[in-house]
Amino acid sequence: MNDNNAENRESVNFIQKIINEDLINGTYGNRVQTRFPPEPNGYLHVGHAKSICLNYGLAKKNNGIFNLRFDDTNPTKEDESFVESIIKDVKWLCPDWEERIFFASDYFEKMYEYAVELIKKGLAYIDDLSADEIREYRGTLTEPGKESPFRNRSIEENLEMFEKMKNGDYANGEKVLRAKIDMASGNINMRDPVIYRILHETHHNTGDKWCIYPMYDYAHPVEDAIEGITHSVCTLEFEDHRPFYEWVLNNLDDFKAAPTKQIEFAKLFLSKTMMGKRYLKKMVEEGYVDGWDDPRMPTVAALRRRGYTSEAIQSFCEAIGVSKAQSVVDIAMLEYAVRDDLGPKVPRVMAVLNPIKLIITNYPEDQVEYMESENNPDNPQMGSRMVPFCKELYIERDDFMEEPPKKYYRLFPGNEVRLRNAYFVKCVDFVKDAEGNITEVHCTYDPETKSGSGFDGRKVKGTIHWVSAKHAVDAQVNLYDYMMEDQDYDKTNFLEKLNPNSKIVLKNCKLEPSIKEYETGDRFQFLRHGYFIIDTDTRLDNLVFNRIVQLKSSYK
Ligand code: ATP
Ligand code: MG
Repeated sequence: MNDNNAENRESVNFIQKIINEDLINGTYGNRVQTRFPPEPNGYLHVGHAKSICLNYGLAKKNNGIFNLRFDDTNPTKEDESFVESIIKDVKWLCPDWEERIFFASDYFEKMYEYAVELIKKGLAYIDDLSADEIREYRGTLTEPGKESPFRNRSIEENLEMFEKMKNGDYANGEKVLRAKIDMASGNINMRDPVIYRILHETHHNTGDKWCIYPMYDYAHPVEDAIEGITHSVCTLEFEDHRPFYEWVLNNLDDFKAAPTKQIEFAKLFLSKTMMGKRYLKKMVEEGYVDGWDDPRMPTVAALRRRGYTSEAIQSFCEAIGVSKAQSVVDIAMLEYAVRDDLGPKVPRVMAVLNPIKLIITNYPEDQVEYMESENNPDNPQMGSRMVPFCKELYIERDDFMEEPPKKYYRLFPGNEVRLRNAYFVKCVDFVKDAEGNITEVHCTYDPETKSGSGFDGRKVKGTIHWVSAKHAVDAQVNLYDYMMEDQDYDKTNFLEKLNPNSKIVLKNCKLEPSIKEYETGDRFQFLRHGYFIIDTDTRLDNLVFNRIVQLKSSYK
């Protein structure tokens, strides 16, 4: 992407503006500290990648610090395997990150102490109402709530009961700790929100030590403040929760002098892509895809396997910028970013995905010539390689037509084309099998037209690629397309709207022999077909490629 644009965008980034003001005012000294706080209940998706790149980028640009913090305050939904996958993804997206990894559950003791502080200040109370009653008492957007009959317990009684809650003296749901704010507040989140609940559950980190767990809205500001986060960047759905976030920190002595600032931005949504962990989980668990890293998924793990580079994802995130307005970003922008990144970096090779034999009738039977081919015309430093050429080649099946439509410039009886980096060939005949399928195309070649050598200068309109049959390497190629068929889907019907052609497996592909020098994870441009990566499923006897992205302009 264009650097000037990146700079312009940076200068209008409203979060950076807030940081600049804080640096000028010395709100947090000269510190800038951000975090990414995932719940370990699924794999990260490209929306999370956006949040990671944003938070990590802000820290980096301001000589600050970036924390990965697992928001593992809900013992019922979490899983260790998700913790590992998230760490792997963050490491990949943030290459020089110092691996500052934290767990909210490590702060349970502190969170408890801060809750005691609120009780002592008369700012929190134990409520015996049931969950249903609390909901009833809460009121609605248009009606104020009602105060709980337990709201005015003495501080001593509250302290005693909170300790008993902690010691396991009560059953799930019997009591909760609530903040004491204002049941008539216009913001429902300020109507005495619950801050602790009883859950007799084993936690993946703290085991059975705790049977009370803090609620997200209380835990989050405390976690941020304990770590010294200066700017807590989150998505818009938390905007209405900000007053409570501020209330918590402004009422705790350790934090009220320089409370962390919560700043919201709009979530990233991508066209033709279903996002949201719970929906992706459904697709995995019900077998609509082959796991979380199936290259059709929008997870970070899938993008990596599909062949996306972390640089491409970073520059995509930079290009789309941050905003307060919800919108859907065209997935073409993500594709642009990966082409832009790979274009100058990866070698070009010739690969025939849907082969048909081309026989050059006037070419000597056993002759092999080596044709010099540039590795990357956009990057001459990448040099060239010698590609073997013989009497029998493979070409793409759709590069020949018995009866061509108008403006078809490739092979058809009587027509001449250029074989990339080799000779001009003219179609003189073809062979069909019993079912009428074309099995061979016969051509003659003109020895005077060898690429790079002088010839009479006559022009042909079509250039096609080829692979020597004798030297070809067999491979499987997986072609991926968008997950959703069109833009008309939502969380209720997305399973019916999945694109049935999102994965096409081609098992009989023929590749030029230079491919043998590469290994899993290497990327290429297959001439005319797009960018590809050697998949992690590759075995010695089955070379597997994934298409990362098509070329921008198709050759047809
Ligand atoms: P999902 O809706 O996919 O389940 P989540 O918000 O529940 O995501 P968390 O693990 O709670 O997932 O989120 C971690 C962080 O990622 C939060 O700060 C959240 O705001 C941010 N985030 C989640 N989805 C997006 C998105 N689509 N775009 C940008 N940031 C996102
Ligand atoms: Mg969530």
